[in-house]
Amino acid sequence: MFAKVIIDQDAKALDRDFEYKIPEDMNLLVGQRVIVPFGSRYLQGFVVEISQTCNFDESKLKYITRTLEDFAVIKPEMLKLMFHMAEKLHLKLASVLRLFLPSEMRTGKVKELIVRYVRLKESFELPSQRAKKQWELINFLQDNSEQKYSDMANQFGASALASLVEKNVVEVYENQIFRAPTFDKILNNHKTLTDLQQRAVDTISQNKTYLLHGVTGSGKTEVYMSLIERQLQLGKTALMLVPEISLTPQVLANFKARFGDEVALIHSGLSAGERFDEWKRIFFGEAKVVVGARSAIFCPIENLGIIVVDEEHEQSYVSESNPRYDTHMIAEFRKGFNNCTLVLGSATPSIDSYAKAIDGEYELVEMPVRVNGMEMPKILVVDMLMEMRQGNTQIFSIPLIYELKNIVEQKKQAMIFINRRGFSSFQRCRDCGYVAKCSDCDVSLVYHHYENKLKCHYCGKRYRALDICPSCGSRDIKQGAIGTERVVEELRKLFPEVEIFRMDNDTTSQKNGHRKILNEFKNAKPGILVGTQMIAKGHDFEDVLLVGIVDADQSLYQSDYRSIERTFQLITQVSGRAGRSAKQGKVILQTYSPRHYVYRFATNYDYKGFFKREINLRKVTNFPPYARIIRVLFSHEKENIVAEECKVCYNKVQEIKEKYEKEFVYLDVMKAPLNKIKNKFRYQIMMRIKLDKADEIERLVFKSVDKNVKSSVFFEINPNNLS
Ligand code: ADP
Ligand code: ZN
Ligand code: ZN
Repeated sequence: MFAKVIIDQDAKALDRDFEYKIPEDMNLLVGQRVIVPFGSRYLQGFVVEISQTCNFDESKLKYITRTLEDFAVIKPEMLKLMFHMAEKLHLKLASVLRLFLPSEMRTGKVKELIVRYVRLKESFELPSQRAKKQWELINFLQDNSEQKYSDMANQFGASALASLVEKNVVEVYENQIFRAPTFDKILNNHKTLTDLQQRAVDTISQNKTYLLHGVTGSGKTEVYMSLIERQLQLGKTALMLVPEISLTPQVLANFKARFGDEVALIHSGLSAGERFDEWKRIFFGEAKVVVGARSAIFCPIENLGIIVVDEEHEQSYVSESNPRYDTHMIAEFRKGFNNCTLVLGSATPSIDSYAKAIDGEYELVEMPVRVNGMEMPKILVVDMLMEMRQGNTQIFSIPLIYELKNIVEQKKQAMIFINRRGFSSFQRCRDCGYVAKCSDCDVSLVYHHYENKLKCHYCGKRYRALDICPSCGSRDIKQGAIGTERVVEELRKLFPEVEIFRMDNDTTSQKNGHRKILNEFKNAKPGILVGTQMIAKGHDFEDVLLVGIVDADQSLYQSDYRSIERTFQLITQVSGRAGRSAKQGKVILQTYSPRHYVYRFATNYDYKGFFKREINLRKVTNFPPYARIIRVLFSHEKENIVAEECKVCYNKVQEIKEKYEKEFVYLDVMKAPLNKIKNKFRYQIMMRIKLDKADEIERLVFKSVDKNVKSSVFFEINPNNLS
């Protein structure tokens, strides 16, 4: 018998299967991990096929050395997914497989926690009367089962125990202890569904994809839980994905309370050991419900009845690093394989998904009102230019300070949201609010401090940095953003007696850092929580009556065709944190562009209006979902090599373009906006193609690039980030 093996090495030359002979006495399974001889080394690999015949000269084939486990770690579904992803996303097979296993398993760093137990054999010969300790131990074990070896050795002496084992009176067996992650305990939380929730649950009943558009506070979580419960009753399993930052203690506790030990949790806060053990509980079918962040989409759960992607619009569902993938695509695949239901839920669906719902590819399910029947919080737009003209040059506007004072007096809570994204920034005129845009692409230019230039991240065009505003002539040009620390500092000055918390990457880097801050904030009345995107979702604090958005424009002027969409989503999500229980909330939104249409739609909670406007814009300007953006990023230590290879590939792509002239909206080659990262030079080919033949062209581009390079190449489709 022969096996095809994929070598677990991230190298282009090894990106295919290799044939090996299976030793006579080896009981090999497809999906099993093996050690194989490769050249002069022994390497790890995965068995992807077993067959009676081989394609290669049999006498030259080597034998598989050994197996790493006695079961197949890669299940059939995942094997299929591997081929699917490798083909669609132009990824190496081994790099896809690595996504499927906890890294601890590959590197072998984590030891399983094995505990040894002892019990009496069914029948045995009694020891001599004189062995008192042994008799005591036998008596004890007759009354008490499931005793730990170490406990018994301590209690009755190691030699007594050892000799009973030797005489075959006592047998030793091993049990694995699963390190379960900790979570906040809450009581059972079953709620009677509202009519709207019930209707959603009734509608979402078939094996297709649903887009659940429910406003913040409409009780989507409760809907998900009911849907999952139904699948469990049918003997199926469930997978629920939540963005990392909204994988809040509350959400986890809710799931644990509802589904108990059948839940497995996967998120970055787990230790390596915990993650490994959760993975195994899933693998061996002990966990029936998996709740996790992005990477949980690859968990080895079988017999899925439903997949839920909560906050489906979140860009964190796209993995931006190698291997790059989009969770939606994987979810669709698994839905197809399991023939199950897929629910994409959001208060602010991505333009892409909503367009699919409009086109009938997804079924739209709507929950337009909050569970508590409350109106959505009122959003007050504050014109910061006006504030400045009136002499207020502080971070906080007069209305925001006024409302904060109110909150403090009433001993309630407020959240202050700092809109921060990446390191890039734009330049803005402090007098009229002007922000420079690319004349060709109609997206904001990004200020590059190092070169003191403005750049368009789509076409690479460079512009002089502003020193005088082209619109009003002012010299008061500002760049950069306000940070959370600054805001906390200012707040402490204004409200020295109030407890103020900060939640950002710095303060949550420690394990459970998140949870600690949130728990403290929960009990602080009055209290103010200052934070980045992290505080925007999921949280459900009943005493938060005010949300302040310090600089809403930060996400608006990112050089990114989705920046307006993202701003709308952020405002809606952050606003959704206010007034979630008995009292209506309030939102103060500070902006330098108060007349931008995004704020008009956002303050009216008019998602549909916003969608119409935005989708038209995308159509007219040829951006996704009406076109596909492909970026091929090259990087290498030697600039001449990467520049040369990039040029060669560009010429190849131009040949493709000549054949498909009408399909190309745009094609160019340039240095990447960030030309050098970690000592590697970066060049890129950017193209925008119409949809009709996009698949075909994409394949051709990939093929010709792949043939012509030595540098590392990174393919991105509709990238989120163009740095
Ligand atoms: P969403 O995710 O849609 O923003 P949540 O699922 O967080 O909303 O629900 C908002 C709040 O309403 C939560 O406090 C939740 O416990 C509560 N809730 C949800 N459904 C019900 C219900 N049927 N009855 C009472 N309270 C509910
Ligand atoms: Zn441009
Ligand atoms: Zn100006």
